Amino acid sequence: MSKAQLPCFGVDIGGSLVKLVYFEPCNSQINCNGQDKVGLEAIQDFIKSNVNYGETGARDERLAMENVVLGGRRGHLHFIRFSTDVVGKFLLLAEELNASVLNDKVCATGGGAFKFEKDFKEILGVQLVKYDELECLIHGIHFINSSCLNECYYWNNLHCLEKSETVPYNFDLNPYPYLVVNIGSGVSILSVESAEKFSRISGTSLGGGTFLGLCYLLTGCSSFDEALSMAEEGDSTKVDKLVRDIYGGDYSKFGLPGDTVASSFGKMCCEQNRSAVSKNDLARAMLVTITNNIGSIARMCAVNHKVECVVFVGNFLRCNTIAMKLLAYAMDYWSKGMMKALFLVHEGYFGAVGALLELKT
Ligand code: ADP
Repeated sequence: MSKAQLPCFGVDIGGSLVKLVYFEPCNSQINCNGQDKVGLEAIQDFIKSNVNYGETGARDERLAMENVVLGGRRGHLHFIRFSTDVVGKFLLLAEELNASVLNDKVCATGGGAFKFEKDFKEILGVQLVKYDELECLIHGIHFINSSCLNECYYWNNLHCLEKSETVPYNFDLNPYPYLVVNIGSGVSILSVESAEKFSRISGTSLGGGTFLGLCYLLTGCSSFDEALSMAEEGDSTKVDKLVRDIYGGDYSKFGLPGDTVASSFGKMCCEQNRSAVSKNDLARAMLVTITNNIGSIARMCAVNHKVECVVFVGNFLRCNTIAMKLLAYAMDYWSKGMMKALFLVHEGYFGAVGALLELKT
């Protein structure tokens, strides 16, 4: 079987999650025999006949893309993620499936491409060809936006968040300059001036890993999805001290409405308040605290760089409607409607896509 017909992978090994993008050429089934066929079929069967792999692995079926053209080949893109904690198990499984018959080199990005390079070589016989994670991120964003209709969207009706819905946004029209806020375990903020001109301008260690780590500690939840479900049921105003808790209303002189958070977790300084909060309230307050902090840093970066469009990505936003709406509201409210928060359907997979794109060069 020729190399051009073989499926291939791009992988982004992050601090929390491994993101694996699998490109299956339309003609990958033909003309293969012997050892190649065994390895190829076993892997394709394994990937496509499951949506969950072990305790932490999942294939995001809703994100799959058909008829994608990659380096002159047409095929399907599949999106898979699993916890970085189980890279060792993943390698043993890949070895069992004889995965190295597909590619002896895999384009990889993220810190784990460095950390696990030796393990990939020794256990799987696969060489990780490493690429910078922020370059991969930007290349992935541009590629997916040009290949996928309705990739980019914003939230409307920001004055009434319960009624707010997503609206497609034509990102391709003229996106530059814009900011990317990548909310993974930590947060990186990039200023993008053109397809090849971008730089990391800021970041914060208070990111998705902080939200999840503190939720584990405070609520006893056992997964990101559970933390989000708890947050949905919770009320952060029982935990946070608001402007109205201090002023009895708005702080009008400086335009601060009464429902603005004055002190995140500020009500927890009082014993009586502590005994009145539920774990759901704590999860909600954690989510609001982390999200508002990121929104505020993003807005300051946008002001400094005179940018109006801010694109939020990263797996912290996976199924995280509360955070997305909060970010959209905060960007709009505090900029008096001058800034727009944009979101992308393939949330946390752009780094892995960018790595995959390196194959054709
Ligand atoms: P990284 O590259 O640092 O791993 P990601 O963009 O993959 O970053 O985002 C990781 C964050 O996504 C986690 O810190 C957590 O907040 C959130 N997340 C979403 N889904 C999961 C999950 N299934 N397991 C763990 N964290 C998840």
